[in-house]
Amino acid sequence: MSTKATITDKGAVILGKNVACDAFDDSKPLRVVTHTHADHLIGLQQSLRTCEKVLMTKATKDLIDIMRSPLFLMGGYVEALDYGKTMRYGEESVTFFPADHILGAAQVLVEDPEGTRIVYTGDFRLDGTPVIEADILVMEATYGSPSCKRSFGKDVKGMLFSIVEEGLKHGAVYVFGYHGKLQEVMQILHDAGLKAPFVAPERVFHVSKICEKYGMRVGRLMRLEEKEAKMMLERNQPCVAFYHMGLRGKVGQGCFCVYVSGWEFDVPCHEIADKEYVIALSDHSDFDGLMEYVRRSRPKLVITDNFRVGYAETLARHIQRRFNVSAVALPKR
Ligand SMILES: [Zn+2]
Repeated sequence: MSTKATITDKGAVILGKNVACDAFDDSKPLRVVTHTHADHLIGLQQSLRTCEKVLMTKATKDLIDIMRSPLFLMGGYVEALDYGKTMRYGEESVTFFPADHILGAAQVLVEDPEGTRIVYTGDFRLDGTPVIEADILVMEATYGSPSCKRSFGKDVKGMLFSIVEEGLKHGAVYVFGYHGKLQEVMQILHDAGLKAPFVAPERVFHVSKICEKYGMRVGRLMRLEEKEAKMMLERNQPCVAFYHMGLRGKVGQGCFCVYVSGWEFDVPCHEIADKEYVIALSDHSDFDGLMEYVRRSRPKLVITDNFRVGYAETLARHIQRRFNVSAVALPKR
């Protein structure tokens, strides 16, 4: 059974005979992109050049068109696969299921001719993610340690809203986060009835518009390049500016800043300096969420992702102990 799935030294999640997910592998004709975060786009250019097909959801394709360029994916044969639709390849089939993580994120099910169900979760947050029954389960392990448990649950959204509202009394509020997360913050603030306008630089703006196209609510969003938006920030007028985490410390210095991070477990909100806050909003399951997925999926073998950031070995140990199934962290370090 363990020969039917693995994770390579280069981070490719191999499912069955034909599928390599989230990194390039030269022996597999199908490349799957589960979602658009950089650690899942490894070697995509090579895959486009050499694989027969590159599979992703339509939303993921739209996001890559924005994040790279509309020309990027034209370097290969890309097939958009909807959730719940099955693609046959030789004697195997591939089906995507939703994953609550970033717009377009997918879990992957490969079924082989012997009826073995091989599932890769990709990155996910348990709340909005259907659990897929598996014989072999390959899973992410970002928060795979018992030290990564969040007890505060839903208070985070209210906390986020009050902090931003408080900040707006001083002028502009800068929110820093990764793509996907920023748009989730927009939706939370918008749904909570925040009145201040939102401002975003070019790329964040376009990603937000794609999210809106697929049904997210991102509020009244202006491009930073617009004169009115630029002026609001220059004069430090009340508005919320959304920046990629990479610009933390480079813009908004001395202003009210909110950093959105998953790596916070004790409290939903944490003041790190004067007018600087970290909010614990995560798009990954915590330890209990990962264990719960395994319990409901009822696999015979679990492989935890030891290539990407996380606690794969710890998680594998806990799965083995609690559920009495084989579990291994791959690749071996
Ligand atoms: Zn991710």
